[in-house]
Amino acid sequence: MLKGAKDEGLKTVLVCEKKREGLYKRFRFIDEFIIVNSFKEILDKNCQDKLQQNKSMLIPHGTLIAQMNSKEIESINVPIFGNKWILRWESDRKLKDKLMQESSLRVPKTISDPKDIQSLTIAKRHGAAGGKGYFMTTNYDDYKKKRDKLISQGIINGDSDLYLQEYISGVLAYLQFFYSPLNEELELFGVDKRHESDIEGLARIPAEDQKGLDHVPSFNVIANSPLVLRESLLDEVYSMGEQFVNTSKRLVEPGMNGPFCIEGVYDENAKFYTFEFSARIVAGTNMYINGSPYTALNYDEPMSMGKRIAREIKIASKEGTLDKITT
Ligand code: AMP
Repeated sequence: MLKGAKDEGLKTVLVCEKKREGLYKRFRFIDEFIIVNSFKEILDKNCQDKLQQNKSMLIPHGTLIAQMNSKEIESINVPIFGNKWILRWESDRKLKDKLMQESSLRVPKTISDPKDIQSLTIAKRHGAAGGKGYFMTTNYDDYKKKRDKLISQGIINGDSDLYLQEYISGVLAYLQFFYSPLNEELELFGVDKRHESDIEGLARIPAEDQKGLDHVPSFNVIANSPLVLRESLLDEVYSMGEQFVNTSKRLVEPGMNGPFCIEGVYDENAKFYTFEFSARIVAGTNMYINGSPYTALNYDEPMSMGKRIAREIKIASKEGTLDKITT
């Protein structure tokens, strides 16, 4: 985001956790730092004053959402790029499901009572947990064993911290979009897959040895790598993005503006099941800092998500329509 903004000629200010200061000071495209111990400090007067002095626009990311609750995010007194109200729909499992269902996306079945687990099921934590503490299970007894292990490790408190969903086997794909309310156009920015530990390591262990392991594998995201979809799937990808944008306009005004990601899996019949969405920029866009195979079709220059966001801000600023792209 910061590199893209700098390339577009904007001043860049990073609200930075103290522990990350060393890392980000290595880069020359950051003009100013606001150091915090936790992102909750964005609400402090001191931090908001500095942001306001800079006439800043805040671009939310996953860690911000993980550290602040919806009410806190909504009370930030600096314009937020995109729609801050939809971030509540990302963090709240019921609202999230409603938005996906009403967008007519194909969603894996929810299992509301662990006693009803009958087939391969994934137990997930609420919010942007990054896959840590997730596990797979096939029946209630096994579920209890794994749940209790996570409780004893202090990762969860109990059943209410877990959300059970039918496990869909296939090729995982994370569809990255940008929607501009200025020209009312949806752009596909890229597709990626995630590398998750240590579930990925399981494939390297022979089944015989797996059987003897008393260990609950996790889905902790470590890295992303690029994907290019079979071209015949693209039409549906755009339709899913458009359905999501249209439904968001209806359910969460002003709608899904700016970057977002639809996350799911293609099954054996190439049917896409959406298990999540992120209503803001996702880490997977980092790999396309010089553009993706999809942005190359629309732009005659390298276009990253960060640069696209900055360009939107510049266009809106010139046209006097900044209120259209912020909340
Ligand atoms: P999430 O936090 O929902 O993005 O999930 C983290 C990871 O869990 C995903 O990247 C997938 O590897 C896996 N996952 C989540 N839901 C499902 C599902 N319904 N079927 C298969 N894998 C899933």
